[in-house]
Amino acid sequence: MSPLLRILRFTRSLAPYYAGITIAAVVVTGAGLAVPFITGRATDVVVSAVGAVARGESVAEGTVRTVVLLAVALLAASLVETLMGNIGGYWGDVMSAKMRTILSSRYFEKLLALPQRYYDHELTGTIVARLNRSITEITNFMKTFSNMFVTMFMTTVAVLAISAWYYWPLAVLLAIAYPVYLWLTALTSRKWQRLENEKNEHVDVASGRFAEVVGQMRVVKSFVRERSELRHFEQHFDETVTLTGAQSRHWHTMDALRRGVLNVIFFALYVIIFLRTVTGHFSVGDMVMLIQLMALARQPVTSLSWVVDTAQRATAGSKSYFEVMELDPDEVEGGGGRPVELVRSGDGAAPDVVGHQDGAAPEVVRFTDVRFGYDDDPDVLSGVTLSVRRGERIAFVGESGGGKSTLVNLLMGLYATRSGTIEVAGAGDSPEALRRSIGAVFQDPSLFSGTIAENIAYGRPDATREEIEAVAERAAVASFVERLPNGYDTLIGERGIKLSGGQKQRIAVARAMLKDAPYLVLDEATSALDTKSERLVQAGLEDLMSDRTSFIIAHRLSTIAEVDRIVTLRDGRIDEIGTPAELAQSGGIYAELLALQHSASKADRKRL
Ligand code: ADP
Repeated sequence: MSPLLRILRFTRSLAPYYAGITIAAVVVTGAGLAVPFITGRATDVVVSAVGAVARGESVAEGTVRTVVLLAVALLAASLVETLMGNIGGYWGDVMSAKMRTILSSRYFEKLLALPQRYYDHELTGTIVARLNRSITEITNFMKTFSNMFVTMFMTTVAVLAISAWYYWPLAVLLAIAYPVYLWLTALTSRKWQRLENEKNEHVDVASGRFAEVVGQMRVVKSFVRERSELRHFEQHFDETVTLTGAQSRHWHTMDALRRGVLNVIFFALYVIIFLRTVTGHFSVGDMVMLIQLMALARQPVTSLSWVVDTAQRATAGSKSYFEVMELDPDEVEGGGGRPVELVRSGDGAAPDVVGHQDGAAPEVVRFTDVRFGYDDDPDVLSGVTLSVRRGERIAFVGESGGGKSTLVNLLMGLYATRSGTIEVAGAGDSPEALRRSIGAVFQDPSLFSGTIAENIAYGRPDATREEIEAVAERAAVASFVERLPNGYDTLIGERGIKLSGGQKQRIAVARAMLKDAPYLVLDEATSALDTKSERLVQAGLEDLMSDRTSFIIAHRLSTIAEVDRIVTLRDGRIDEIGTPAELAQSGGIYAELLALQHSASKADRKRL
């Protein structure tokens, strides 16, 4: 189906507006078409009166009344045209605002539903630029479409019918003019569209980079890359200037050709009208009316190219809009994979478990032969099997890039496995339900602009101020908030830029505490912090971990000395599993890393 028809279907709820705008356009065009009639008739009345006066005869009875009536009709037609034109304009404005809202919200809804993998491939700025362009072009077109279409259609039909009634060759000439013009316009469009797409790509790439640069300004400044980033940005826009030049040259060359052909045809039309008038076939009034009608007839033809231009942009816009709207989350995911399974046992009242209960705490999470890799890359995890008991603290250790974060990403249901299963005991059966039961603290605290209170309550927006303050106390947020003049209502800037790393991380811990989920993921939660902040955050994390099944990734091994079990990863597989004490003795990766960190900290102490 044509992308524009799909937009119409997609915005069915706006049908009353489309109808209203169409009716307004019918009235406006009708009133516009009445004007040549009225002036034509008035001219005839005036010409015959002037003739009578010249011949010394008396003016026909009722002439003045007719002229006045015609003038009043003229006034009425223009009043109706103005009134309906403005009412239609108002409906058009409201319609496009509503359309923008529908298209943007559905797009955002779609993006929110797409798997993490989509975001591994797309730049934020590109997504935003593409959305803005598509929606602007679609709404621009839709707003004027009903109006233009009705005017063009009605005027064309009326002018053709009236010309045929007066003298058929006029209609024949017009009937040739329209398709020729349309054909010449269509000839332009393919090349124009190709250049338009190329231009859009440059804008998308530049916008993607733009958003990245703005978001990481500190790095840009510290590497003094402002100029080169600007140059890179300008290069893309310079390309769009070159492409626009080519596009416009092509367009205007064809336009000159189109208009040239049209002028010749209209020249012939005028010659015919004048000849028919001097030979007495048309009255002067007929001539005045026909000339005005021809001027009206030219409008739809010439605005046709404008309509085609806007329609092309809108078509391209809706294509890229639907490209995203129709993404199948499973296909984006790569297909074939298995999402995390949520396992509910019993009637819901009994505790959910995935494995046997043998007196000790029940098994609540089980990885069975999990294989996973990103995109078409080789496996990052090639067969991981692991059971975790309720309340256990499990730490993952291995070299950087060994797949530790990947493992917890899979646990959170952010990616589907290539094969193997991950079972998590809990309520519900959707990825959302799964993620609701997992609290997470990452190395990058990822706060949002807004207040401290809003950020703490991000996982539970209905939390009371007392609840927020209680977790803030436990996570050592209260100690620095008390010193801020606006306390919990302090605005923290984009991504929390106004706070220190340690402060941000303490808010992230409080946020996870307030979420109060049975599972916890800590992915390098204290790695970016100085020792003092680390100690504060670590205390909060200890509190957070109590009674929760926790998965911890930390490169500073001192922070995981107290866990129940350590799992080491090597070549995408589990190498060893054991208590910290057991693994310290076993001579494996953990023991190696332990020795390394030990000698490093000894060297540190010596230097001090
Ligand atoms: P670790 O946490 O052990 O340092 P990761 O799980 O982050 O390791 O990474 C494992 C491997 O997966 C690395 O080789 C990394 O390059 C790759 N990787 C991580 N995230 C992505 C991603 N989003 N897309 C593609 N490859 C990724």
